[in-house]
Amino acid sequence: MSIEENFSWEFLKNVADALDSYRIRALIDAKKDILDAGIYDESQYETILYKMLDEEKLKYSLFNFLNNNSITNLQDLSQFCEKTSIELHKTLSLLELLRNEKLVDVEEIYDKIQGDENNPEKLIFKDLSINVNDGDLSKLKPIYEPVKVIFDSKNCSGCGLCAGICPVNCLHIYNGFGKIDEDKCIRCGLCYFVCPRTYLPARVLNMTLDNTSEIKEYGKIGHFIEAYSARTKVKEISEICQDGGVSSTCIHYLFAKKKIDLALGAKMSNTLWRPEPVLLKNKEEILSTAGTKYVNNPNLQLLNQNELNNTKIAVVGVPCQMQALLKSKIYNIGFPSLNNIDYRIGIFCMESFSFESLLEICKKLNVDVKDAKKMDINKGKFFIYTEKGEELSIPIKEISHLGREDCEVCYDLTSESADISVGSIGSPSGWNTVLIRTEKGKELYEELIANNMIESKPIEDVKPGLPLLQRIAGSKKNNSKKHINSKLEENKRVPNY
Ligand code: SF4
Ligand code: SF4
Ligand code: SF4
Repeated sequence: MSIEENFSWEFLKNVADALDSYRIRALIDAKKDILDAGIYDESQYETILYKMLDEEKLKYSLFNFLNNNSITNLQDLSQFCEKTSIELHKTLSLLELLRNEKLVDVEEIYDKIQGDENNPEKLIFKDLSINVNDGDLSKLKPIYEPVKVIFDSKNCSGCGLCAGICPVNCLHIYNGFGKIDEDKCIRCGLCYFVCPRTYLPARVLNMTLDNTSEIKEYGKIGHFIEAYSARTKVKEISEICQDGGVSSTCIHYLFAKKKIDLALGAKMSNTLWRPEPVLLKNKEEILSTAGTKYVNNPNLQLLNQNELNNTKIAVVGVPCQMQALLKSKIYNIGFPSLNNIDYRIGIFCMESFSFESLLEICKKLNVDVKDAKKMDINKGKFFIYTEKGEELSIPIKEISHLGREDCEVCYDLTSESADISVGSIGSPSGWNTVLIRTEKGKELYEELIANNMIESKPIEDVKPGLPLLQRIAGSKKNNSKKHINSKLEENKRVPNY
């Protein structure tokens, strides 16, 4: 049978456009370098290459469809979904990719609902206005942009994912900042592709968790199915946990029931209060990770470990790490360890500090960091509790200049991209607020209750409850908008959410 009988012109055009993408060319040309680096074997290399090729082909099939059919709005876009049987949220993620690669312009159109003295003015999403950029596609196509631009613009959250997936292991994140070995880099741009601070289809993240094709507003704490206040019943955890111990209990249960082989999290390094990423292998090791750490930690960097292949993994991390993982899932990147992540357990995060800034805070509070037993942010203050039983605090306002610059543009307090999110805001002391976002998260939570591992109450039954959480999450979103706008005014690079 001839090629002509098997493949339409349209199909061949999409494949040709995809093969011409710099990402695919770099992966093909650098096959030897990738295999020599020893992170991926030949079959894993091929999986990554073909998955990337599929993704690029899908992207160009949307571009060619928009171009040929004069698609200009959301309703028109549904023709593409029908023709290709691709869900709207996936199509919107491809559109976002095209927009970020400057192949299309997309504008969101909103209806303004006037407010009154009790209700603020509201913007309700109405439609998209899509405009395909004219010209020779070969000239419009994106070229390699190094993720270094994210480090240099101080937008890098230090999540570690770029280093965790780099196929030649030439990227390293330390103390929240990244470094690339330019001699080894093959210019594949995969680090840029997965990074949550290059572009992040925030609406699509919520729609994916919600498994919906309906465009709606998700409010200040993102999509969730149920919310509770809970605390652990596991004695060893309750003795050392900072609040309710629910995230540690999740990992304890998953190990005990052999639902995971490994868990990725943060533990204290030999330098007290400077955390480091850790791969936990059993439930006993969980105790080393207890307590909130306010210094940034690139957990996801460990995803490049060979022992993560053919395993089931849970990741415990902060919102920017949950965003990075969900983004990679949406863009269907075939890295073996990413595909092995079965549970994303997100923790709430207001901001983080460099270790040096933490030492500054200790200095202001006149305490040696080695004497600190517990740290906490609560009621607008940063608290340090010492081994001697002292409670020291300083208003956040007085130390906000010490926070990491990248945290200023972070819009997410509650780990909106996790399966299950856990934090202290909203619950009484010694308890956690738990937001269940996916069916997987719900199943896990129900199993914790059924196995008598946690005590759980509906969030409506506790004070201060969700209103406080929503208020603080809303203020983080507003602050992030303010910082993004002021960076834009200064012509500085900002993350594209
Ligand atoms: S640093 Fe980025 S562009 Fe360079 S090889 Fe690693 S993933 Fe590819
Ligand atoms: S935000 Fe994460 S993926 Fe992006 S550059 Fe920083 S460490 Fe890498
Ligand atoms: S504030 Fe945001 S960017 Fe900073 S560590 Fe927390 S989740 Fe990451």
